[in-house]
Amino acid sequence: MKLLFAASEAYPLLKTGGLADVAGSLPEVIRQQGVDVRLLLPAYGDVFERLASPPTVVAELVLAGEPVRILETHLPGTALLTWLVDHPLFSQRLGNPYLDQQGIPWADNAQRFMLLSRAAAHISTGDTVLDWRPDVLHCNDWHTGPAIALVHLEEQRPLTVFTIHNLAHMGLFDRETFTQLQLPEHFWQDNALEFYEQCSFIKGGLVYADYITTVSPGYAREICESPGGMGLEGLLRQRQDCLVGILNGIDVDTWNPATDHYIEQRYDAASLQDKALNKKSLQQTLGLEQRDDRPLLGFVGRLAQQKGLELVLPVLDQILELPAQLVFLGTGDAGYEQQLQSLADIHPGCMAVVLAYNESMAHRIEAAADIFLMPSLFEPCGLNQLYSLRYGTLPLVRAVGGLADTVVDATPASVANASATGFVFREPTANDFLAALQRACQQWQNKETWHELQLSAMAQDFSWQQSAERYLALYRTAAESRRQ
Ligand code: ADP
Repeated sequence: MKLLFAASEAYPLLKTGGLADVAGSLPEVIRQQGVDVRLLLPAYGDVFERLASPPTVVAELVLAGEPVRILETHLPGTALLTWLVDHPLFSQRLGNPYLDQQGIPWADNAQRFMLLSRAAAHISTGDTVLDWRPDVLHCNDWHTGPAIALVHLEEQRPLTVFTIHNLAHMGLFDRETFTQLQLPEHFWQDNALEFYEQCSFIKGGLVYADYITTVSPGYAREICESPGGMGLEGLLRQRQDCLVGILNGIDVDTWNPATDHYIEQRYDAASLQDKALNKKSLQQTLGLEQRDDRPLLGFVGRLAQQKGLELVLPVLDQILELPAQLVFLGTGDAGYEQQLQSLADIHPGCMAVVLAYNESMAHRIEAAADIFLMPSLFEPCGLNQLYSLRYGTLPLVRAVGGLADTVVDATPASVANASATGFVFREPTANDFLAALQRACQQWQNKETWHELQLSAMAQDFSWQQSAERYLALYRTAAESRRQ
């Protein structure tokens, strides 16, 4: 079986969020199962310095009049063949691939990701010197949605799978942009790419794909209803027979407290007492008071409304009075950044804020914190709660999407039968969040039970193996039903 896996980012070449973690892991695990895989990514300017060796040009294509080169390389640290779509629209731009320094989408995003989509479609259906055509084209999120629509124009086409990593990002562009993109006019219809007088790239995947997947069973249910479906719930309900939720895995080598080189003191379930040294080291680095008589609460993520900061900020004083210490790592919305920074300034020693994208700090917080906060308003899968479980840092999450699927609330019953792995609350209110946090902090005082909870959390298996097998089974079932 041949698989073309197209995405707009993949770790370690370029990462802004969970999509990169998935695209940097899943295709490689599928390759290890014997599938002939190519990962297709844009050749962003930043990518070249992260390659082990200079890439080779394997094809020169002309896509809607634009000359484009396909460069071949390997995803660093793997044997995964990776094709980079090389065009000045990608290579002459550094930094965040979607947003400028002010956090505003690049004005030419439609042209850029249409080019990526055209490359995926062309490789999948056209005659190229690559002499390689996939049996399955697997696209991810809005950036590659149009690729699926384009291949469905062709008679000889691969099977198509589209994964929703976050429905909130739809790739919406105005009518004039749609015209400039030179797409078939019939795509401007409600049952194609048109979405309330705009062109929606994600609809390319949602309308045309043979199968749609999303990154947790919980989110698969939520997006078929309002408000989770964000206006697309009707379409998704129509396509429910082809929609499946497959939980993301995590890279268990990168996120392993026993081998993690970013952290001060490595540890595992048998040496869990050593975790405390990471707390001490982080407190020191961030100027927090050196004390072990209060829990350290960690937050890592985009500072966006989705992540539930509205539930945390109004009760920040009460949180510190529990008592607890707080550390935030994130970038995003300027308003949240300012609020967090001024709160940290008012509470030196108790609260620290790092407004940066910092991979090593993310690992250090996972290793150091006692409780990890993820009060998201919605969360397709979420990765940080999975990293937290692996690091024995108990996640406190809202019961939505993948968070509800992966964290078991500590109730008297679940503690007694050793299935509890964290703390879960339901309502999107600061009060409900605070009540769960009070519960968690009380539990933290009981060191023996806490240790048991940590062991249950660390014993969870969220490796990619299981998820990859489910994707493979889907490709096979789909291929089989097509043959029939
Ligand atoms: P999302 O994809 O919605 O941003 P996820 O929890 O699925 O959220 O994935 C976020 C990924 O990005 C995680 O690997 C997380 O550690 C990482 N991350 C987010 N913000 C930062 C940051 N400021 N510094 C380092 N890593 C970050």
